[in-house]
Amino acid sequence: MIIAGEWTAGAQEEELRSPYDGDVIDTVAVADFGDVDRAIAAAVRGAEHQRRLSAYEREAILRRAGDLADARVDDLAQTISRETGKPIAEARGEASRVGDLLRLSGFEGSQLYGESLPLDAASNGGTNRLGFTLRQPCGVVVAITPFNFPALLVVHKIGPALATGNAVVLKPARQTPLTALKLCEIFLEAGLHPEAISCLTGSGGVLGDALCRDPRVRKISFTGSSETGERITRVAGVKKLSLELGASCPVVILPDADVELAASAIALGGYANAGQVCISVQRVLADRRVVGDLLDALVPKVEAIKVGDPTEPDTALGSLISERDAIRVERALREGSGNGARIVTGGERSGSVVTPAVLADVDPGSSLSQEELFGPAVAVSTADDLNHAIHLANSTRFGLGAGIFTRDLSSAIRFAREVDSGNVHVNWTPLWRADLMPYGGLKGSGIGKEGPRYAVEEMTDLKTVVLHGAS
Ligand code: NAP
Repeated sequence: MIIAGEWTAGAQEEELRSPYDGDVIDTVAVADFGDVDRAIAAAVRGAEHQRRLSAYEREAILRRAGDLADARVDDLAQTISRETGKPIAEARGEASRVGDLLRLSGFEGSQLYGESLPLDAASNGGTNRLGFTLRQPCGVVVAITPFNFPALLVVHKIGPALATGNAVVLKPARQTPLTALKLCEIFLEAGLHPEAISCLTGSGGVLGDALCRDPRVRKISFTGSSETGERITRVAGVKKLSLELGASCPVVILPDADVELAASAIALGGYANAGQVCISVQRVLADRRVVGDLLDALVPKVEAIKVGDPTEPDTALGSLISERDAIRVERALREGSGNGARIVTGGERSGSVVTPAVLADVDPGSSLSQEELFGPAVAVSTADDLNHAIHLANSTRFGLGAGIFTRDLSSAIRFAREVDSGNVHVNWTPLWRADLMPYGGLKGSGIGKEGPRYAVEEMTDLKTVVLHGAS
């Protein structure tokens, strides 16, 4: 692990294994509570250093880090693929976005505008005062990240945090520490103060409370499951929180939709990264006049997805993150099909690989629709009309992404206004993201927004300054 910019051995270490074939990839330190304390103490000092840098100096570090990341795309992609089981083509796509995201974070961190306050409009204000706002860094930021995008989701946190003058203690997912460590190395080579970054490897279940409860930490930025997110809200105390949590994203197909386009988009959006994406298509709510056509178009496309070895360039679906997760997904599909739904294709497991599945006649109230699956399957249900589809889209506790396929602008506008979801896509599925856009869930899917322009606000505190002239 890295503590205060230094490679550090743990009192214990553990093997990291490939989720695809079980081979040992590397050996990783297991952090303990002493390591947590040392990392936070260093971050307190690192934050003091960081807040004294000018925005110009901070942006220069982020720009250098971005250029180093560009030069290491292949190495990052190999690391991502090995530790997640994600196809190498997808891993390369992820790694190639890191450089731009770092440079964009640097830029947004340099654009922390405030505003002047019209204090003379207050009865006690007068004309001899000036008020304005300043944004200042939070100080120590704890960033906790999941396994599914081990580069991008780390960079969406540490990029804006460092660009706005904070110090970071990063806790990546236990299955994906290597990408995170490589990203920290990049920052150190780019000239970041060593005490401004630590990366603790080890178990979130063991270390999480100590990291989140510590009063020296001002800000927690967490991406992961709703269950862990809820726990963090209980232990954090008075801190700023950003929570990017789970989902069960719907896609509505109206009778006037381009069904071919919808089927192609769902065949991508339901199965990328083996469905282990928070904005994955989980629920298809097809109008009953078009559901047959949709299934006819979708099933052959899903059956054409090439499943196999993640290192092969043409593999489109590799393994899930563990055999345990593959068993969980297989069981959820079997139980779902026992409850009136039918598996039209896929759903067979071999080790940690599950073949891409389509289920039809799914009850929208069943757990297959209501709970996050996080696996390579899409559950198709029928809706009577747009009103019913909007009602069903809103019927889970989540609200992260939603999509609608229609040629009617009025239907699209109603959907955009009435579906409670952080991102709404018209004529595409929710599985689409530009790193610059605001991104984050409503309802049980979380609090706060990522995307550098929005994350820099989450990573700073707003301060009001009043200048009082002589009375
Ligand atoms: P997870 O089990 O909640 O783990 C996420 C992170 O939290 C890991 O680093 C984990 O460490 C750590 N953690 C575990 N217990 C903790 C605790 N008590 N306190 C603090 N941290 C703790 O989630 P995951 O399985 O890695 O990721 C999948 C989930 O992430 C899905 O629900 C998905 O929807 C969600 N996600 C959401 C978004 C979004 O933008 N909304 C994006 C991507 C993923 P260990 O790995 O060591 O357990």
